[in-house]
Amino acid sequence: MQVLKFGGTSVGSSKNINKVITILEEYSKKDKVICVVSAIGGITDKLLKAGHLAKDNDKNYKLEYKSIKAKHLKVLEELIPNNNTAIVAVIEGKLKNLKNLLDGIFLINELSPQTSDRLVSYGELLSSLIIAETLKVRGINAFRKNTQELITTNSNFTKAEVKFETTNKNIQDYFKASTQDVTMLPGFISKSSLGEITTLGRGGSDYTAAIVAAALHAEKLEIWTDVSGMYTTNPKLVKQAYPIERISYHEAMELSHFGAKVLYPPTVQPVLDLNIPIHIKNTLKPEDRGTIISNEGNKKSSTATGITNINDIALLTLQGNGMVGVPGFSKRLFETLSQEKINIILITQASSEHSICFGISKDDANQAEIAINQAFEYEISTSKIDPITVEQNLSIIALVGDNMKSHQGISGKMFSALGKNNINIRAIAQGASERNISAVIAEKDVEKALNTIHERFFEDNIKQLNVFITGIGNVGEKLIDQIHQQNDYLKKNLKIDVRIVGMANSKKMIFNAEGIDLDNWAGKFHHADKSSLEGFLDKAKELNLRNSIFVDITANEGVSKMYEHYLRNSIAVVACNKIACSSTYSNYKLLQDLALKYNTPFFYETNVGAGLPIINTLNNLVSSGDKVTSIQAVLSGSLNFVFNNFSDKTNFHDTVKRAQFEGYTEPDPRIDLSGIDVARKILILARENGGAMEIESIVNDSFLTKLNLESDTVDDFYKTLKTEEAHFQKLYASAKAKDCQLKYVAEFKNGNAKVGLKEIPEGHPFYNLEGKDNIVMFYTERYPEQPLIVKGAGAGADVTASGLFADIIKVGSK
Ligand code: ADP
Ligand code: ASP
Ligand code: MG
Repeated sequence: MQVLKFGGTSVGSSKNINKVITILEEYSKKDKVICVVSAIGGITDKLLKAGHLAKDNDKNYKLEYKSIKAKHLKVLEELIPNNNTAIVAVIEGKLKNLKNLLDGIFLINELSPQTSDRLVSYGELLSSLIIAETLKVRGINAFRKNTQELITTNSNFTKAEVKFETTNKNIQDYFKASTQDVTMLPGFISKSSLGEITTLGRGGSDYTAAIVAAALHAEKLEIWTDVSGMYTTNPKLVKQAYPIERISYHEAMELSHFGAKVLYPPTVQPVLDLNIPIHIKNTLKPEDRGTIISNEGNKKSSTATGITNINDIALLTLQGNGMVGVPGFSKRLFETLSQEKINIILITQASSEHSICFGISKDDANQAEIAINQAFEYEISTSKIDPITVEQNLSIIALVGDNMKSHQGISGKMFSALGKNNINIRAIAQGASERNISAVIAEKDVEKALNTIHERFFEDNIKQLNVFITGIGNVGEKLIDQIHQQNDYLKKNLKIDVRIVGMANSKKMIFNAEGIDLDNWAGKFHHADKSSLEGFLDKAKELNLRNSIFVDITANEGVSKMYEHYLRNSIAVVACNKIACSSTYSNYKLLQDLALKYNTPFFYETNVGAGLPIINTLNNLVSSGDKVTSIQAVLSGSLNFVFNNFSDKTNFHDTVKRAQFEGYTEPDPRIDLSGIDVARKILILARENGGAMEIESIVNDSFLTKLNLESDTVDDFYKTLKTEEAHFQKLYASAKAKDCQLKYVAEFKNGNAKVGLKEIPEGHPFYNLEGKDNIVMFYTERYPEQPLIVKGAGAGADVTASGLFADIIKVGSK
């Protein structure tokens, strides 16, 4: 005897029912088949909705009924065309009874649990009839047997308990005598010993099949559904989830109890006792292997097997000083809940016994609150304990695995992954079996939490980084290109998947939570939404993606003011914009503190020397205990380019123009030429070295004339460069006469910093500095005479982009 169960989606349309029939045809060639079916997908919900509308005196129940009727007649017509009147009459008869029941509920405005069970029983009765009749029409020796005549329960309506002795006997007797090849059984429904219609609980068709398989000692139980097995987590919420090949009964039970809807929790018990394996298969992809649930369990997994979630949770907390050391509080609390028939999903108790916190379904919260406040009325009135508090909109997530108990640090790994992603944990519980670690979190964070934990435990450690870029100019475009090119390499070698999920310039912004297609991003930009700094932040918050990184590739002060908000939302910040780090010391410090507080990286290596590892080197020196005594540096690639190309054969104006054209200057070249840019850089280095310095204290010996400095616009500034050509030629001639090179130098010593143009003699390390190069010499206690030197290209879109990219990757390795 083969036992197969098909769920709601599998029988949700005539197309899918045809797939079921093909499977049944195959199976029936081998041996007799028992086929348990659910109601047509969504019908149970609709029946309940119609019932509640009718009870509430809302005539719309008729519309709901109409759509239920239409759905069944449509499926029937598609499966058995050319109206077989006898069958249509049977189905229409049942539908008529259903209508009468709904009209009755409407008249008396009452929907008791008993009536509710009678109402929903129509779903399975109708689906099993339709499919059985179709099989017959297709020439299969099939018969529909009403399960209510086999499964006997108590009168606990909506979730009745099975009386196994009677039930097993009924099933065994019936199948001993039955002769048909395929027996169609409606799942979910049953009858009490008193003859009342009962049901086995929502999702209970799985259970029906398990009861039948166990009663007949079947070789295995097959549950056919709309996914290819029991997955590492809900595949509808986590794309990377994958089917678990083998899983133990206990793990499957734990996963289903904690929300893996693919299997109704009580299903495991009857088959576990007899060691009958459950095979979960996909009706839509029968060739997929599916999941086998048995004693053998999951040999492959070293630690966790799956993650689940239960939504619609309320967390109730009972606390008060009067509870400490007084026995009996928990007993009274849980007795109260048990009397109210409220199911507790999770409990935690503080070791001080000062509070007990438990999670229940949100639907029970009101009832629980009233009952508990009543039960502890005296203690509350005498202020021994506080009235119970109720928190809503919560979910439970649970990490499950048989092997977790033999591994240390699993909960640490789970909670640190959640913490890094700003997911607040309201309560934690670890089952004594150590097979399950659960946490209560806000419902809005569930998808992010599942994805985060899944990535940490199940994805070969490939970490997904979700990047939001602001500023799509030269550097931005280069960065996007580099990310695009390196993606496969990073996945393979660094186990990082960098996805750009948001892009904005000052006018427009685009988003795609799945990652923007980098082959064609520019095209999408044309039709994009209008951008705003707040809008970009809001969207990053709303998407709530794990490992989010905000990348600032602008030179804009407004953008730099947003870092604070990103960091406060645990979104890492990577910036080449140096305004934030060179603003007031208090702002610089605030950002550093926020990064520490929220354990969220704030990286800005490209603030000094573009892609050169200058800040990193300084940080390493400082954190390893070295003391920096002085820094000598040429930090402006732009000024270096200008003075390397300026001579008595060129003119200053054209040289600056060329530097700007080739992308070596800031958008406003005055920021470079005035020395402000260099002053900002040495300020940042001084601060990284631990100094609480302000920009005003940096001596800036400008080589520009008063006329240059007073120009209002960039165009005016260029004009004054022409006017003042003689001044610049004089600077050149003076240096040349001494065989010196002009270099714009930044110095930091004894807590003071200055910047200015210098004549550098031959032999000095700065003398031969070419093109747009930068050089930094760190004199330290460990490098007293021969400084530690970092030298190389210090400006340009390519190297700046690669510096940003390196920071992004560094975020990924945190
Ligand atoms: P059926 O109607 O076949 O009984 P259900 O809707 O009850 O199907 O269960 C299948 C659904 O369970 C899947 O479509 C999926 O959305 C959900 N699900 C939740 N967690 C898991 C999991 N860990 N593995 C597979 N499916 C899961
Ligand atoms: N039709 C019932 C429900 O939706 C039982 C089932 O599908 O398993 O809950
Ligand atoms: Mg189900």
